[in-house]
Amino acid sequence: MTAHSRRDFLKTGAAAAGACLASPWAFSKSLYAEAPEHPSERLIPFPLRSVRLAPSIFQEQSEINARYLDSLTVDRLLHSFRVTAGISSSATPYQGWENPSCELRGHFAGGHFLSAVALASAASGNSVLKRRGDELVSGLAECQKKTGTGYLSAFPADLFEHLAQGKPVWAPFYTYHKVMAGLLDMHVLAGNSDALQVAEGMAQWAGDYFWGISAEQRQRMLRTEYGGMNEALVNLAALTKKERYLDTARLFEQPSILDPLAERRDELQGLHANTNVPKMIGAARMYEVSGERRYREIAEYFLQEVLTARNYAIGNTSLDEHWTTPAGRLEGTLGWKNAECCVAYNLMKLERLVFGWTAEARWMDEYERALFNCRLGTQEAGGLKQYFFPLAAGYWRAYNSPEESFWCCTGTGAEEFAKFTDTIFFRRGGDVYVNQFIAATLDWEEEGLRIEQATRFPQEQGTTLKLKCARPQARTIHVRIPGWTTGAAEVSINGRPLEAVAGPGSYLAMRRVWRDGDSVSVRLPMELRQSPLPGDDSVAAVLYGPCVLAADLGAGPADGPNRVIHSGATAPESLPSPDPLPKAAADAGVKTGLWVRTKSEPELRFEAAGENGKYELMPLYQIADQRYSLYWQMQNPGKPPTV
Ligand SMILES: [Zn+2]
Repeated sequence: MTAHSRRDFLKTGAAAAGACLASPWAFSKSLYAEAPEHPSERLIPFPLRSVRLAPSIFQEQSEINARYLDSLTVDRLLHSFRVTAGISSSATPYQGWENPSCELRGHFAGGHFLSAVALASAASGNSVLKRRGDELVSGLAECQKKTGTGYLSAFPADLFEHLAQGKPVWAPFYTYHKVMAGLLDMHVLAGNSDALQVAEGMAQWAGDYFWGISAEQRQRMLRTEYGGMNEALVNLAALTKKERYLDTARLFEQPSILDPLAERRDELQGLHANTNVPKMIGAARMYEVSGERRYREIAEYFLQEVLTARNYAIGNTSLDEHWTTPAGRLEGTLGWKNAECCVAYNLMKLERLVFGWTAEARWMDEYERALFNCRLGTQEAGGLKQYFFPLAAGYWRAYNSPEESFWCCTGTGAEEFAKFTDTIFFRRGGDVYVNQFIAATLDWEEEGLRIEQATRFPQEQGTTLKLKCARPQARTIHVRIPGWTTGAAEVSINGRPLEAVAGPGSYLAMRRVWRDGDSVSVRLPMELRQSPLPGDDSVAAVLYGPCVLAADLGAGPADGPNRVIHSGATAPESLPSPDPLPKAAADAGVKTGLWVRTKSEPELRFEAAGENGKYELMPLYQIADQRYSLYWQMQNPGKPPTV
């Protein structure tokens, strides 16, 4: 089949189409549907309540996460908020970063937890978690009322004074943001009306506090991590139509970070990754709500730069939480403390926003890469989450403990695993975009359209869409043809192959009158390929379709402190040195199929020829207890063997 450009297909496909249906702008309540300067040109996600997962690894993983969230109790979560507000609490507080003396306390208990249960309630109809969230909001509202100033936190406002005076303090605004974001999610996603009022009280306090400080002092304070304060305030402005929140959001802007990016200069070396990605999400939302294009340019340049010059093959970035090298120079950076999981969560948030403006498949390709390689697989069977993602050879996955850690990554992981449905389907006007290949059903009730996506992707190389239409309807359905397909994708409608298919890294637009029972079958053949480490072509990872393949290096620690960390520490205390990278029996740049072979396509099992023998390979997300390596030391010139 010949590959054509998307435009070619639009031309050929248009002949078969009827008039496009006018589509109501039906989801104005969504945080994401607020109008920028050209709302009709933006792609927006369907509301979480319209998409349901079908049985798959994604559904299994979201249920594991929900069970973990269900194991946490409201009284214990509220303990430090109550104590801070002067309300007695006899509950046993959680530990780690929720310990009553930890300066980040409340970030999970009143923040990530609220966001996660709001997401779970909207995405899967989980009424138990919704009730838990409602109870927590009531408890938080009570604490705020007792304080009487709008201030709501699990630590006293003194910590903000420490920040203002330049005394050592962890990150009070970061934590404050998490609570605001949790409340906004409870309002938007779970319909809790009190939550909006509580969030407004918090914003009022933050605004009053920050407006009362000199610009110079504010900039000094903003050198300390402040999470997505700007994003939360923009979201609040969009929801309430109150301009003052937008003005307050602008107080949380740092010219020292934003200006170089606006001028397309990468001055990220030395910066803390997870401190800075949320600022870009805030800039992206500021663009969407204010329409000021400079914010869009900042967000797009930043994302493009990190993805191309600072990312590892798994779709995430950083060493020891920082960008430690010049752009494009990741050699020597493989260790235990790579790729903090929160950073992937935040990069993916940014990817879906930028995708909404551009409709470019590359952002969804990147989203897919992160989803399958550094989100899926980072939760173990009891719902515990990873913090770092070790990329040196011979390491393994380590997790937080259920009640004694509560890292940032416990929190973003709890949110991620509750929202797998949020990016599968998008829409623009009456058009539907199929972005991710995850078994799920879209129910677009207002339009009388259901799309059932049936797939075992990536164990199946493609997907099938089955349509249920209340009436025949003319519209365009766009399906992502991933960049990794190398031009071999095949698509058929009701068994008839399309003569024109979009090229790799674009969307195939199928415009026609759709009828009940129509089905679209998409075949996306996968191939083995290599992805070199930026800065060192002699080090490469192997991929198959979207999946990074990991070499199984044998059993890791079965249990104990090197597997589950029972404290707030984010890495095991005593780690061995990593192994040297396994040596591939092949030259750098040689065709991957010459040294890696497929053993079982349905099971995704492979075998690689190493200098010292053969290695078993599998998708990285399937690595659970094993030690692994995903990078290879390639050989210098020499004749590549075959396997
Ligand atoms: Zn984190």
